[in-house]
Amino acid sequence: MHAFRSACQMQLRFQPYTLELRHAFGIASNTRTTTPAMLVEVERDGLIGYGEAAMPPYLGETQQTAADFLRRVDLTRFADPFQLETILPAVDALAPGNAAAKAAVDLALHDWIGKKLGVPWFRLWGLDPAKTPVTSFTIGIDTPEVVRAKTREAAPYSILKVKLGRSPDEDRAIIEAIRAETDKPISVDANQGWTDREAALRMIEWLAVHGVVFIEQPLPKDRLDDTAWLRGRSPLPLIADESVQRLDSVARLRGVFDGINVKLMKCTGLREAHRMVTLARALGLKVMLGCMTETSCAISAAAQLSPLADWADLDGALLIKNDPFDGARIVDGKVTLPDRPGLGVIKRPA
Ligand code: MG
Repeated sequence: MHAFRSACQMQLRFQPYTLELRHAFGIASNTRTTTPAMLVEVERDGLIGYGEAAMPPYLGETQQTAADFLRRVDLTRFADPFQLETILPAVDALAPGNAAAKAAVDLALHDWIGKKLGVPWFRLWGLDPAKTPVTSFTIGIDTPEVVRAKTREAAPYSILKVKLGRSPDEDRAIIEAIRAETDKPISVDANQGWTDREAALRMIEWLAVHGVVFIEQPLPKDRLDDTAWLRGRSPLPLIADESVQRLDSVARLRGVFDGINVKLMKCTGLREAHRMVTLARALGLKVMLGCMTETSCAISAAAQLSPLADWADLDGALLIKNDPFDGARIVDGKVTLPDRPGLGVIKRPA
């Protein structure tokens, strides 16, 4: 009886995993070569759903905090794993924060449900897989020589995303290094690195004449008045990243930014991400779907939503060399969904 009962209950397992980056990756605040992650599985009825927490250090979560949180998640008390409206709020209420650990549970449950139904999530949401966007390829802060090499490596991508924000001279040198190789459109992510709004405006005006198409997070995340000032004068659209976290942070950005960058690891997963996209649209905001350095598990989850996005920045799995999953791929620069149920991921042979 006990064995029968436990086979019908949802079991949750988790395991720390360290993502190894292909290249050291520099943003305005730091440079790193690995990203800590946590791989999560839920199992019931002989089916396994996969999820993942990717935790770049600047977001404050660690493998330890994720393990402490996930140990408290008891899915066996929920009779019906389809009842995400009951389960996910209960998981969310266990602790404040822990957004990536919560996302891992959300992803694994979505994967399990899709597998149980035999349907990929893009179909459950009514989306056309032909409408996935192109994705940008991200180039971190580096020397002009390395930036030029990475630009050549990014040949299949039709848009490049560059990390700026350390100093005006370094920012201009990086753009000039790219322009020595290609005239492709560039998106810029300043990662809050510009602190003076007048200087930021001068930089954006310079970037606009160098083929940059939008700017992500030009100013520190809480400087909304200065960002609104900048938006009123900027020749390029401004997209919120660090200024937006979860659903409740979207509405205040109307009139401040032109769009938002939705990331599963910030917003606790697919359920909330889908709502953020809907709310952003209703507010007239553009939508970008972004990622951390992640395995193909979380990237495939975001890819399921991507036909709803204006822009995608879903190159996270391309930046690591030990991806344990196969799933959504980037083909000729475009997000490409596999015809598999759930999140569309399978484990690679070890
Ligand atoms: Mg960003």
